[in-house]
Amino acid sequence: MSLDAAWARRWIELSAADIAEQRDYLVDLDRAIGDGDHGENMDRGLKAAVEALGQAQPGSVAEVLKTVAKTLMSTVGGAAGPLYGTAFLRASKAAGDGDLDGAGVAAVIAGALDGIQARGKATAGEKTMVDAWTPALEAARAAAESGSDPAAVLEAAATAAEAGAAATEPLRATKGRASYLGERSIGHLDPGAVSTSLILRAAVRAAGEAGAA
Ligand code: ADP
Ligand code: MG
Repeated sequence: MSLDAAWARRWIELSAADIAEQRDYLVDLDRAIGDGDHGENMDRGLKAAVEALGQAQPGSVAEVLKTVAKTLMSTVGGAAGPLYGTAFLRASKAAGDGDLDGAGVAAVIAGALDGIQARGKATAGEKTMVDAWTPALEAARAAAESGSDPAAVLEAAATAAEAGAAATEPLRATKGRASYLGERSIGHLDPGAVSTSLILRAAVRAAGEAGAA
């Protein structure tokens, strides 16, 4: 089994649906340690991405991810737009020309993390979305190296991202808007780490549908 453009498109559709559903939750998380716009930002950006994909009809995983990158950069304000935009752009480059096998999925996640760090300069432990992407990449690489199929590589990544997001709660933010709060950022989940875990979980569901089809 490999993951194709239809999977990538479905991934973004399911991400948009899940983020829409969790919009208020993400707003609440961002209100606690930021300015309360993360749910709105992501909801707007992913809805626009679904719309753009409908118009562009991209024919490869890389083209889907590139369309998403451009749309997020142009429609999402704040820190998350450029961060996720660069993530999807580097992920698109990492995807290559064809469909994704397990190693391809790990490469796409590596591209995403690389883009986020190139843009935001955060490392693990600074209470940002990097704290979800970093364990996701480690888990994806380990799964791919052990010969897992792409759906299982995504499953490992999403589960690790969820644990990574949960583990941001006791951290003190040292990057982004939450860092202005210093010690007061402790005791809250990082909104971007939570949106990352939602987006990776949507990728698993899209792969499940592709496998069942
Ligand atoms: P803003 O902070 O501009 O209001 P959002 O609320 O949409 O933007 O996004 C906030 C999220 O962005 C944070 O929860 C965090 O995960 C992420 N973030 C902020 N700064 C950085 C950074 N330098 N590196 C990685 N992620 C970051
Ligand atoms: Mg915000």
